Amino acid sequence: MRPEDTQEILFTTTAMGAGADAVSRMRAEAESGGQESDHAAESVIMMVDDEPINIEVLQTFLQDAGYKKFVSTSNPLEALDLIAAHRPDVVLLDIVMPEMSGFEILKRMRKEEAYAHVPVIFLTSSTDADTKLMALELGATDFLAKPVDSSELALRLRNTLSAKAYRDRLANYDTVTGLPNRRLFMDRIERALRDTANTGAAGAVLQLNLDRFKQVNEALGLNIGDSVLKAVAMRLDLALRGAAAAYLDGPKAVPPVLARLGGDEFTVLLAGIGKAEHATPVAQSLVNAIAGPFRAGGEEVFLSASVGVTIFPDDGMEAGTLINNAGVAMRHAKEQGGNGYQLYSKEQNARSLHRLSLEGELRRAIERDELRLFYQPKVRVANGRGSGAEALVRWQHPERGLLGPNEFIPVAEETGLVVPLGEWVLRTACTQSADWIRAGLRVPRISVNVASPQFRTQRFPQTVGSALEDADLDPRYICLELTESAMMEDAPRSVRFLQELKEIGVRLSIDDFGTGYSSLSYLKRFPLNELKIDRSFVMGVDTDADNAAIVIAIIAMARGLGLSVCAEGVETKSQLGLLKRHDCDECQGFLFSKPMPTEAFAKLLGSPAGSAPAVRQAATASA
Ligand code: C2E
Ligand code: MG
Ligand code: MG
Repeated sequence: MRPEDTQEILFTTTAMGAGADAVSRMRAEAESGGQESDHAAESVIMMVDDEPINIEVLQTFLQDAGYKKFVSTSNPLEALDLIAAHRPDVVLLDIVMPEMSGFEILKRMRKEEAYAHVPVIFLTSSTDADTKLMALELGATDFLAKPVDSSELALRLRNTLSAKAYRDRLANYDTVTGLPNRRLFMDRIERALRDTANTGAAGAVLQLNLDRFKQVNEALGLNIGDSVLKAVAMRLDLALRGAAAAYLDGPKAVPPVLARLGGDEFTVLLAGIGKAEHATPVAQSLVNAIAGPFRAGGEEVFLSASVGVTIFPDDGMEAGTLINNAGVAMRHAKEQGGNGYQLYSKEQNARSLHRLSLEGELRRAIERDELRLFYQPKVRVANGRGSGAEALVRWQHPERGLLGPNEFIPVAEETGLVVPLGEWVLRTACTQSADWIRAGLRVPRISVNVASPQFRTQRFPQTVGSALEDADLDPRYICLELTESAMMEDAPRSVRFLQELKEIGVRLSIDDFGTGYSSLSYLKRFPLNELKIDRSFVMGVDTDADNAAIVIAIIAMARGLGLSVCAEGVETKSQLGLLKRHDCDECQGFLFSKPMPTEAFAKLLGSPAGSAPAVRQAATASA
């Protein structure tokens, strides 16, 4: 049976044991009964023989055996064009023909990717071994002696077609889920695009990716991961049947195709949907289908999915472009927090291209020494004296000038580049501090930001330890700023890591407090020293009663937990006044100083007592 002719959502049959879920079983049962007659009825048989009478005889035999679809020619020069146009399931090929021999035709077929694997049965009156050897060498599938015996013909043909059907299945279906694979999916898109070129009917390509599936695989192992994927495929299939019913009665509608491209990436082709708006309810129902818990290996697994939708002909008329667009939109859905769908837009594509080039440039930036550290002083609220500084990374871009972290840290986090970048920041802060100490400057404690992916690395505490050791710096000079989300991601492991870091001797701070999600019970167990109140709360503290209430409550809570409190982003005297009245320990903000380049900061360290006026002066000098 040819998968191309299936008139419903494509699914595997019994040949794929692994895909034996309810849906494919249903299909398999429906198919298995009539498999032989299916071959006969659906297979396209091509015959090439310079004697028309031979073709007539063959066709009569084959019709008696139940075959119905034939393509034939007595002109060997036509053979290759006919193969290209009709894509036969098997070619019965005469060897000795004028103008072009069967050998030559086979030789040319095997060179063409598209029909290199079409089975060829030679018809030959020659019994000599050399001819047969030559034919096999060229890739012939089988022989039939002339004159042809009708029952031998039927048997050889049946075997050849069964083998081809099995091979097609292996080549076109995914072994884990039984769904069509990338190859078959691409073929379907191309077919749909040809229809669209003729009829103008709209269609959509959807790409679905599971959010956090990697964690399932890592935590539960690949086998359970596979069974979750199977269950996901089944749910998607059912959801798709339900959702597609809404537009399937349209005049040009074609049943949807669900495929697995690999990993946890699924795609859907909706062809002939009439209106582009028909695609979004389908996307939503796929997202909904994943929402309920999966039972796998005795565990309940909660997943969600992100779906990207691209419409043709509007967004493109090439299979590769459409799959790419759907991927861009899917990643956009993920950036929005996952568990939802997004439609593709040209702006998204421009952004993702920009990201791609940024990624490459950032990789080189580390090697080419284009990163710089700026330092922003921290000040004691009570007396305005400098008490520390935060190291903030900048990128001296060769064309675009000095870039702030918001322009590249998000990409660095996504691509994992933040790990080497963060290590560079830490090592640079350590060596600069050690140099300043050796130069006799009064060096305060330097705070270094740590991104989640960095904190997630296996040997993060050791990395910190070796940076300090290599710089020969007393660990008390360094404070690490971690975010709530970095610590809460795997809280028990964070407790261990923080303990190890504490033993190394660095100070530990929780950054941007109030913007993430923390469990207070864990907060108590994390061996932290400091809490930094996020700028968004400090900003309106003197004008907005709610913000003031939040800041006051955070200060009280930090006190209760024995943490020192630092307010970020202090810009006005009245903000400072409120912080002072509520006994905030330290603050940091433009009121005192903007982040300043290394040289300006070193100059500040050399000035008397690093007092607030000195801090301000240095800031003006560097502005
Ligand atoms: P953050 O760690 O919360 O750093 C404080 C940010 O607030 C800095 O922005 C600082 O310039 C800004 N800021 C301080 N006082 C004021 C103020 O009074 N008003 C205003 N409007 N802004 C103020 P910056 O340097 O742009 O850094 C932004 C964020 O980028 C940092 O937030 C941090 O999350 C991240 N970042 C910076 N350097 C690094 C780094 O080396 N590694 C990692 N992983 N992240 C970094
Ligand atoms: Mg920070
Ligand atoms: Mg912060």
